[in-house]
Amino acid sequence: MRIYTLAKKLGIDSKELMEKLKELNFPVKSHMSSVDDDTAEIIRHEVEDLKRKEIERNVIEVDFPISVKDLAVKLGKKPSEILKVLMSKGKFVTINNALDEDTASGVAYFYKTTLKKKAKYEDKVFKTDSSKMIKRAPVVTLMGHIDHGKTSILDYIRRSKIADKETGGITQHIGAYRIESPKGGITFIDTPGHEAFTAMRARGANATDIVVLVVAADEGVKPQTVEAIDHAKATNAPIIVAINKIDKSNADIDMVKQGLSRYELVPEDWGGKTVVVGVSAKTGKGIDELLDMIILQAEIMELKASYEQPAVGVVIEARLSRGRGPVIAALVQQGVLKKGDVCVSNVFWGKIKALHNDRGKTVDKAYPSYPVEVIGLNGLPSPGDRIFVVPNEKKAKEIVSRRKEEEKVKTVSSAHVRLVDLHKKIEEDKLKQLKLILKADVGGTLEAVEESLRKFSSDEIKINFIHKGVGLINYSDVLLAEVSDAVIAGFKVNIEPQAKEYARKKGIEVRVYHIVYELINDVKSALEGLFEPQIKRIFVGRARVKEVFKLSKAGVIAGCAVEKGKIMRAKPCDLIRDNEIVTKSTITSLKRFKDDVREVGEGMECGIGIDYGDIKPGDYIDVFLEEKIERKL
Ligand code: GDP
Repeated sequence: MRIYTLAKKLGIDSKELMEKLKELNFPVKSHMSSVDDDTAEIIRHEVEDLKRKEIERNVIEVDFPISVKDLAVKLGKKPSEILKVLMSKGKFVTINNALDEDTASGVAYFYKTTLKKKAKYEDKVFKTDSSKMIKRAPVVTLMGHIDHGKTSILDYIRRSKIADKETGGITQHIGAYRIESPKGGITFIDTPGHEAFTAMRARGANATDIVVLVVAADEGVKPQTVEAIDHAKATNAPIIVAINKIDKSNADIDMVKQGLSRYELVPEDWGGKTVVVGVSAKTGKGIDELLDMIILQAEIMELKASYEQPAVGVVIEARLSRGRGPVIAALVQQGVLKKGDVCVSNVFWGKIKALHNDRGKTVDKAYPSYPVEVIGLNGLPSPGDRIFVVPNEKKAKEIVSRRKEEEKVKTVSSAHVRLVDLHKKIEEDKLKQLKLILKADVGGTLEAVEESLRKFSSDEIKINFIHKGVGLINYSDVLLAEVSDAVIAGFKVNIEPQAKEYARKKGIEVRVYHIVYELINDVKSALEGLFEPQIKRIFVGRARVKEVFKLSKAGVIAGCAVEKGKIMRAKPCDLIRDNEIVTKSTITSLKRFKDDVREVGEGMECGIGIDYGDIKPGDYIDVFLEEKIERKL
């Protein structure tokens, strides 16, 4: 192999390669010199090693997103140079545009530099100092099928454990409430259900320590019970089962236990590990036992919090109140939240004017695992957002303005697993399992599809079905996919409009199939790295090559006349000779006289450079726009 061919393969200049070879004691005479395949392989290996070391040597710390201007300063380059690098990657931006981490790192890589993210204030406060931790109460969420009694149980506990002790018995709805049982405190999240639970997790915070799965004794395990189980499992939260409505004459506890056993929740009295308590929200039977079990579970978990660090909590609800402005219900997770603290949540901040507890009383402080209403922020964060204390207003403003910048450049597509880049991730060892949510029209098909897909699990990658179910792909499926980084595959089912919109916004892959073979084939080829999205090409123009110039620096430039449509830079093209495609390439340079231009219209002349040297007068260059389309059947 000739040195210049090898250099091209390695993506470096042949002169640079020769320099490197000297360093590596492989001197060669000229770039036309040849080396055998084995030597080429060794050289390739060594050069890549050298490149990597070089890049590792140059590390600079920056904040993301970073503007082109600031990146140029950091790299010691001119902004115009950075813009050129970006352009070569098909990105057209101005010097004031902000670049996200991936894009900026790509540019830095070009200059053999690694960008390291500067540690954010949040990274520091969200980390807890385990040496200073003391015990805290568990936070519990109730989940289960609709009408199985979640709200009734929450109401019963609230009424019986708070009302009888407090004057008037008035409790304020602030998204969570706390009870003190003889054995310890428990905080219940007041918005039951797995959707709210997972929606909160999707925003980054996990508020719940223990899940109480409510199953009605007369109905048993239902589809939403299964959903709830899978949502709880995805967070690794322990599950305690409350079999509710045991007062009913048609209650059938064994039937419920049987149903639970099918989902790996084998009751303790059946030889399993799951704590199951029979309760009635109507009569109150079993409720005390349920509370005891929660406390017991919490003790096993040794839940702790630090009281000394700056307070951090999670937003449970947020609403606008007339007269009081934004009212935020939060659960304190670490530290002690105090009146007068300056805090940040989402892109809002403020000095805390007042704090109210779940009994509607004004308080000065809120401790870990206590729900509290916060007044003083200048906007409404979303459930699941973190709320945290900062040292002063200046810091708050700084964090908020950085977050607003981040919001602007956020790209969704790279965040989640997609079939197209599955193989790459497996190879880079970033992925050990493909998480799938599988929905089908009927139970039989669901099992058959699952069975066929399981066969593809290998040493490299395991297919993990985090949820399977019959029926439409719904919002809850998409949320679960979001938090667990899963791909959703549906077989002969539709997707709910709200779920579709959310998936699109978050860049979560949802695929619907009508032929089993196609589904299996897609997963198989994704695992093998053969999966390509279908590309739609749209013809935009054709140019005829009139003359060819060989320039030493710029390579080969074709002097052309645009005969149809227009020619656009950085777009894919075909080189055509005698009605046959000679090569597929990209328009790398486009000039009108001496000026670089983005496009040239019909009837005009221009100079075109493509990634291919052998162009002849009389050839045609056809330019296309390419659009990736999801393969749907
Ligand atoms: P959720 O949808 O899970 O919150 O269920 P609800 O708490 O709204 O309860 C649904 C229905 O079941 C209501 O009509 C309740 O009165 C009834 N219910 C709840 N718990 C019990 C119970 O322990 N016994 C009986 N007999 N009915 C109950």
